[in-house]
Amino acid sequence: MAAYEYESHDYDVVVVGAGGAGLRATLGMAEQGLRTACVTKVFPTRSHTVAAQGGIAASLGNMGPDHWQWHMYDTVKGSDWLGDMDTMEYVAREAPKAVYELEHYGVPFSRTEEGKIYQRPFGGHTTEFGEGPPVQRTCAAADRTGHAILHTLYGQSLKQNAEFFIEYFAIDLLMSEDGACRGLLAWKLDDGTLHVFNAKMVVLATGGYGRAYFNCTSAHTCTGDGNGMVARAGLPLQDMEFVQFHPTGIYGPGMLITEGVRGEGGYLTNSEGERFMERYAPTYKDLASRDVVSRCMTLEIREGRGVGPRKDHIHLNLSHLPAEVIHERLPGIAESARIFAGVDVTKEPIPVLPTVHYNMGGIPTNYWGEVLNPTKDDPDAVVPGLMAVGEAACASLHGANRLGSNSLIDLVVLGRAASLRAGEVVDADAPVPEAPKAQIDKALDRFDRFRHADGNVPTAELRLEMQRTMQEDAAVFRTDKTLAEGVEKMTAVAAKMDDLKVTDRSMVWNSDLMETLELANLMPNALATIVSAEARKESRGAHAHEDYPERDDENWRKHTLAWVEGNGVTLDYRPVHTRPLTPPEEGGIDPDKIKPKKRVY
Ligand SMILES: Cc1cc2nc3c(=O)[nH]c(=O)nc-3n(C[C@H](O)[C@H](O)[C@H](O)COP(=O)(O)OP(=O)(O)OC[C@H]3O[C@@H](n4cnc5c(N)ncnc54)[C@H](O)[C@@H]3O)c2cc1C
Repeated sequence: MAAYEYESHDYDVVVVGAGGAGLRATLGMAEQGLRTACVTKVFPTRSHTVAAQGGIAASLGNMGPDHWQWHMYDTVKGSDWLGDMDTMEYVAREAPKAVYELEHYGVPFSRTEEGKIYQRPFGGHTTEFGEGPPVQRTCAAADRTGHAILHTLYGQSLKQNAEFFIEYFAIDLLMSEDGACRGLLAWKLDDGTLHVFNAKMVVLATGGYGRAYFNCTSAHTCTGDGNGMVARAGLPLQDMEFVQFHPTGIYGPGMLITEGVRGEGGYLTNSEGERFMERYAPTYKDLASRDVVSRCMTLEIREGRGVGPRKDHIHLNLSHLPAEVIHERLPGIAESARIFAGVDVTKEPIPVLPTVHYNMGGIPTNYWGEVLNPTKDDPDAVVPGLMAVGEAACASLHGANRLGSNSLIDLVVLGRAASLRAGEVVDADAPVPEAPKAQIDKALDRFDRFRHADGNVPTAELRLEMQRTMQEDAAVFRTDKTLAEGVEKMTAVAAKMDDLKVTDRSMVWNSDLMETLELANLMPNALATIVSAEARKESRGAHAHEDYPERDDENWRKHTLAWVEGNGVTLDYRPVHTRPLTPPEEGGIDPDKIKPKKRVY
């Protein structure tokens, strides 16, 4: 057995992650009077949330009529009827309150002439239950909304005396015999010490796993660590086949160009200079939802109408917009286009391509953030002591496809909900239970095995192999053949985890070892994604299956559950919550409005 010293810490709540979700949960837990620690592998304001550009959705109605029920309807339709209705109602209803709360915390939103919060149009957000014109619902701080929110929430968390453990890498959850979470093991990157956090509640807010793919808009730190920890604890991941491709990543480097560009009037063209979205989505055109626009772009390229010497990308035009609009509302975009594509957006189009952007799937939770361990008798059974929020979680607000600007609102509304729930279920006066010693030893042994891994395959090489496989075989369009090949290839790739080669054995700032631990987390995410995708014989939201082009509600309106062990995946399913929280006679949405129907934009 590996002999390591470690330091122990006792808290009511330990939040892992300091992105928008982690910080909102941390702040809320501290406000509830719970002793709260936030453990994060990067400095809080470097979390991927900082990169969110476009904005945060809430039906404030500052720019014209809007209603929470319209927001809920758009989210239901965007999800392709896979989202959970209770979560969707909760978020749409609470969204305006959450945005005003951010305003009062100090987020510097852009303003209208009258001084109200500025809102822009975004894809899939409409009026009159999808019958009216696009709505301006997305609240923005220029094109740096995530940056503004993250800095504000960090300041507020410090004010509430939450304690931060910065550049601590969480390795594994520590579970009790009877399946409750009791804490976690973490590694302090800058001095090599190990730390056991005993806690009454652990909240995973570790973000997405975009880095399982070769081309993605997310930060290098988005390695699905929380999902990996959950899989190793023997718990399932949910709806992992639904991976969102954002229509406009910069061709080549993949940096995001926000949908806000199309919201402000930008449009896509093919090699013939045609605004092709008018053909596919006559009503909402370039503002159809992301899965739809990404598929249309891919079709244009496939049919030979891509731009550039290899006809392999599309143009995004904004040079017709007034220079003031660009400088005031999209300054970051102008800069990214200049640096990463060498383009002056006031004169030329930006070369773009659909790029992996968001993970709809993740750790299954209810809308209070409590992690689920579904059983046959109870598909909503809760894991004591464990919560998940943000992109790591699947509460299922987004179902099979997320609408733009609905993630930032997810972070703050559900991050707050988790803290309210923790205020109810965590007893601040009770002693902190100790994490079981056997679990600590097991986690240390695993850490030690990676540290001394002496096989033949370097981490970077295996990571690349995984990324290329996922990029090719779990792409915008999928077929039985590509998916079956993908499952076979990924199973072989994952088997090579036993033959890894780590060259640095030190404990201090060992980035080789850290990247290996991250790869070990990416692997179950990638496997669950491709195996879940292979099994789903229909097309829904981001899962576009060419052999089954239609949505099949009778057989497939259900959440996928994937248990990953080694390189094997076991699947099962749980029902979608089809009932909203509030009945219509008490002011809830009319059930007829949210019945499944064909999804056209
Ligand atoms: C370029 C870009 C632009 C976007 N724009 C928008 C937008 O305009 N509107 C919108 O609604 N959504 C947008 N999104 C999506 C949205 O920003 C993300 O889904 C969201 O920010 C994720 O937040 P999070 O708090 O869940 O995770 P993150 O912000 O990714 O934070 C994860 C946290 O977990 C910590 N962590 C992870 N693993 C470990 C570990 N092992 N140990 C310790 N700590 C760990 C990290 O240190 C970090 O603090 C955008 C996404 C991208 C990539």
